[in-house]
Amino acid sequence: MEHQTTHVTGGCLCGRIRYEAEVFLYNGYICHCTICQRSTGQPAEITVLIKAGTLHYVGEEPRYYVSSGDGKRGFCAECGARIVWQALRAEDDWLTNVTVGSLDRPAEARVTRHIYADTQLPWYHVCEELPKLTGQDADVLIEMLRQEHRPDRA
Ligand SMILES: [Zn+2]
Ligand SMILES: [Zn+2]
Repeated sequence: MEHQTTHVTGGCLCGRIRYEAEVFLYNGYICHCTICQRSTGQPAEITVLIKAGTLHYVGEEPRYYVSSGDGKRGFCAECGARIVWQALRAEDDWLTNVTVGSLDRPAEARVTRHIYADTQLPWYHVCEELPKLTGQDADVLIEMLRQEHRPDRA
């Protein structure tokens, strides 16, 4: 179920940005990194990965802010809603993810793990039964997956 993709639609609060995509709806994750905290103004950001190449915008596209050496965050220029995280390197396109709250049917999503749990706020308790990866664990996992996604291995 975790590796299955589902066609979804979503968008921002004001409705200027609308998208459709194939997402890994049952394999969401909760990111406690400090960049997600600042970007959302919340304790964590919860997202689902998109199957590479399947994200399409209907109407306006997000504006982007380059938030690290790895990625940029897309948001609605009008209402400020956080929509998407996209890798700066084209070969990391498989890491593209959308915020679970931007989905039209967020209740259908399932989360499977925490990442950057070492910066989880001590009073923020959510899905505590799920595996917790530290920032370092997450970097190792991403590097492993990156090897799997190498085009020369296809
Ligand atoms: Zn908007
Ligand atoms: Zn994060």
